[in-house]
Amino acid sequence: MASYSNVTIPSKIKAWLYAEHGNPVNVLTLDSDVRVPEIKEDQVLVKVVAAALNPVDAKRALGFFRDADSSPPIVPGYDVAGVVVKVGDQVKKFKIGDEVYGAVNEKSLDQDEVYGDINDKSLDRPKQHGTMAEYNAVEDRLLALKPKNLSFVEAASLPAAIETAYEGLERTRFSSGKSILVLGGAGGVGSLVIQLAKEVFGASRVAATSSTGKLDLLKSLGADSAIDYTKENFEDLSEKFDVVYDAVGQTESAIRAVKEGGSVVTVVGGVNPPAFKFFLASKGSILEKLNPFIESQKIKPVIDPRGTFSFSRVLEAFSYLGTGRVTGEIVIHSI
Ligand code: NDP
Repeated sequence: MASYSNVTIPSKIKAWLYAEHGNPVNVLTLDSDVRVPEIKEDQVLVKVVAAALNPVDAKRALGFFRDADSSPPIVPGYDVAGVVVKVGDQVKKFKIGDEVYGAVNEKSLDQDEVYGDINDKSLDRPKQHGTMAEYNAVEDRLLALKPKNLSFVEAASLPAAIETAYEGLERTRFSSGKSILVLGGAGGVGSLVIQLAKEVFGASRVAATSSTGKLDLLKSLGADSAIDYTKENFEDLSEKFDVVYDAVGQTESAIRAVKEGGSVVTVVGGVNPPAFKFFLASKGSILEKLNPFIESQKIKPVIDPRGTFSFSRVLEAFSYLGTGRVTGEIVIHSI
């Protein structure tokens, strides 16, 4: 394995960036002359080894958050795994050479939020310089030490998705003995909701939806029941659930699948009460809490079988992301 603790930090680095909004496949270019990010007192400089792509990266490039975003040119990328090569004066948590992972934007934006009070949250704007670059400046509070058993690729696949999965379960006050239906069980978020519900929260029963070819995956992640959405409507089943976690954007149907007094949480699309929606606030502390479950292999990263792309193939990765059929996560490696 390469050693990154003695790297000489260059002044110019390679990064994928876009100067105007559009389909990332059309607007992204690889620039070899980008200034290495300066770190603030509470930040570390991470030598990026692997970085994952999430749907939010494509939505952002398309301009969904244009009124609330940083000014271009923008380097996409929320998820990172890499090595600390420089620390700010106030950083106590990490030292040079530490292998870390995290979601580098404090706030995960979604289209709806643009119409909310984002102007009062300017500090929450996604960073101009994301993780599709050789180096990234990140606040120490957003990072955790990489689980020892994971490769950088595996670690990079987790942060935004697992934090979203965890926070959604917390917000429904999910607890031991409850049942849950996960909509979109094969996606980045859903595949981790299934595992967390079962292994961390002690669900009595987990059901999840996917298309036919992914039903076995749902079972292998811990789902007791895998529902093929191409053949049956989950809302017509007689079984009802304490919680429905919607990672697809189906709250209208979801509220017909929840028990009276239960909760429906969604992370995408419109919201039909009593369902509620939330936006991830990235926190390294969630990763720290979950690291023991990852290191004991109770929680496993899910990376699409075709989903690891080299740094030169970021456009192909975005093209695949755009199909909406990704299983788990897409990871760019090595950077
Ligand atoms: P993915 O791109 O990983 O989801 C793709 C998966 O969705 C595929 O495996 C596909 O499986 C599955 N899928 C598509 N349609 C359906 C359907 N009708 N029923 C069941 N499964 C389906 O997305 P993520 O999990 O990463 O994210 C999900 C959504 O949540 C995105 O819109 C994202 O932007 C949003 N999000 C919001 C956050 C927030 O803070 N609010 C944070 C993180 C994500 P198949 O091929 O079997 O259909």
